[in-house]
Amino acid sequence: MSMVKEALRTEETQTNEGRTVAGFVNSIETLEGGGFLVRRPFPKASFSDFDPFLLLDEMGPMDVAPGEAKGAPDHPHRGFETVTYMLSGDMEHKDSSGHAGQLRSGDVQWMTAGSGVVHAEMPSAEFMRDGGRMHGFQLWVNLPQRDKMVKPRYQEIPSSRIPKATSADGLVSVSVIAGEAMGEKAVIETRTPIIYLHYRLEPGGVATQGVPHAFNAFAYVVDGAGLFGAEGERGTDGQMVMFAPDGDEVRIENPADANATLEVLLIAGVPLNEPIARYGPFVMNTETEIHQAFDDYRRGRMGAINS
Ligand code: MN
Repeated sequence: MSMVKEALRTEETQTNEGRTVAGFVNSIETLEGGGFLVRRPFPKASFSDFDPFLLLDEMGPMDVAPGEAKGAPDHPHRGFETVTYMLSGDMEHKDSSGHAGQLRSGDVQWMTAGSGVVHAEMPSAEFMRDGGRMHGFQLWVNLPQRDKMVKPRYQEIPSSRIPKATSADGLVSVSVIAGEAMGEKAVIETRTPIIYLHYRLEPGGVATQGVPHAFNAFAYVVDGAGLFGAEGERGTDGQMVMFAPDGDEVRIENPADANATLEVLLIAGVPLNEPIARYGPFVMNTETEIHQAFDDYRRGRMGAINS
């Protein structure tokens, strides 16, 4: 093969590695828990899930007046994982097995509900009293059939233990919640392969993130606007950007002439390709298992919170 052909082939291969954008999804606004507003790209009527992900909620950003903070009082979960990531404000968590924890800015709680928990997710007494800036995310990650009834598990990782990296040009930084990015590996363990990254790109910054072919991948724009995928399609604040499974890396750019930081969650996972039976806080594989979950909850088999 001549040098020219070799060069062309290399160029073509590189071009094919970058995923293109399959589509954009706008968030809906809805009330959750005790009545706090969330922005939600999915689920909604026209878009039930993005295998293996079941839900993404952005809480805020909003300024909460003293006495106005709301949370999600006692409720159950079975059959999946909830991942809570706070950017500002706080959240106190209490569950039926006596587990309690507090999340502050930058902290992550990865809760494997498995066979079932009853928990409350509430602002702290201090935040209730004083109010303040509230901003956070909750992602629901489905569990494969073999793991739906595993013992509940919590991984509570303070911001100081979330690996972070910054590019040599200083324009791109990342917090590695799950998976690997820019040479850093997450400390959180996942049941199936998951990538969960928080990228911050200054104007002129470009992130190129490896995402293996087998993963379903999307970006959620937290703040600003940017160019996504091999063809540089524009996505803005509150939009979900779905990538096509046509490459093994994802490109995100904040244009040099932008006047704000671009913040993006990049989330990817290997699809389970299993039937989903879903009702409210329970996500199983069959209707029978959903009925069983309700029955177990009503009979107190998922426990109750002693407060
Ligand atoms: Mn919950």
